[in-house]
This record gives sequence, C-alpha cells and structure tokens, in this order.
Amino acid sequence: GPLARHGAVAVIGLGRFGGSLASELAAHGVDVIGIDIDDAVVAQYSETLAFVSRADSTDEAVLRQLGIEEVSRVVIAIGSDLEASILTASKILKIGNGHIWAKAISQTHAEILDQLGIENVISPETDMGRRLAHLIRGHMSDFL
Ligand code: ATP
Repeated sequence: GPLARHGAVAVIGLGRFGGSLASELAAHGVDVIGIDIDDAVVAQYSETLAFVSRADSTDEAVLRQLGIEEVSRVVIAIGSDLEASILTASKILKIGNGHIWAKAISQTHAEILDQLGIENVISPETDMGRRLAHLIRGHMSDFL
C-alpha cells in the first residue's frame, strides 16, 4: 500500500495534538502518514506531510488498503470522539505490527485503551499539567 515505507510513522487524527505531533516529526525528517476523516484537515496537511489520506480509521478495510500492517509506529490521536478512538485502537491492535501510542482525554478513556492492550496511552492535559508544576517549581529535572 501507499504507507509501506521504512521508518514511517502513521498519525491518525490531525487535530491540535496529532497535527502538532505530525508536523514536528516531519520537520525532523520523519516520513509521516497522516490520516483524518475531515477533508479540510487533510488539505491543510497535504504540503507538510509525506502522505495524507482522507479516511475513516474505524474501517478495517480502509486501514488495510493504506498498508497499516507495514507501518511499525502508529499514533492514534483521536480524542473527543471516544467511539472512533476505541474502534480505531481495536482495529490497529488487530492489524498493526509495531508500537502503538494512543491519546486519551479522560481517566476512563485511558483505562479502556489500556485494557484493550495499547502499550502507550498518553493523556496530554494531565501530563502537561504535571510537567508545568515541575517547571514552575524550577525542578524540571525531577520529572525528566
Ligand atoms: P485535539 O484536542 O487534538 O484538537 P480532539 O481531542 O478534540 O483533538 P478530535 O477532534 O476528536 O480530537 O479528533 C482529532 C482529529 O481526528 C480530527 O481532525 C478529526 O477529524 C479526526 N477524526 C475523528 N474521527 C476520525 C475517524 N473515524 N477517522 C479518521 N479521523 C478521525
């Protein structure tokens, strides 16, 4: 499929979190495959990322068509649509072949992703709040 690239990272959901992650990786020379269901979002990232596709990531056939099984690092950056996040995570666990990160927007969401077997669950607001606390105390090194 179009995503069969060595060392590529797939970022599913190009909102504020996924978009910023994808852009930063691309700026550092990483081949990023962006997937989003929204046409306007896809258009916005078409210049920045190596490959962008407008697709519904809950659709297993679509993920297979894109060649997700050949991508060794996948980030699920869908947040507020809990159902889309969980369904996508389930499909990626089924057909993916490498490391998976998934963003959670609540403790319950994080628990479900963890129960599904996602190895890296990230909670950006919670984690950033903790980081900022250490930064404000002047002891960022405690945290890093
Ligand atoms: P952020 O805080 O990072 O902006 P968010 O947590 O509010 O985002 P969402 O708005 O739910 O997250 O989703 C982020 C992106 O994921 C959006 O651009 C949205 O279009 C995309 N997205 C949502 N559902 C799907 C899906 N089923 N397939 C592909 N992309 C999706």
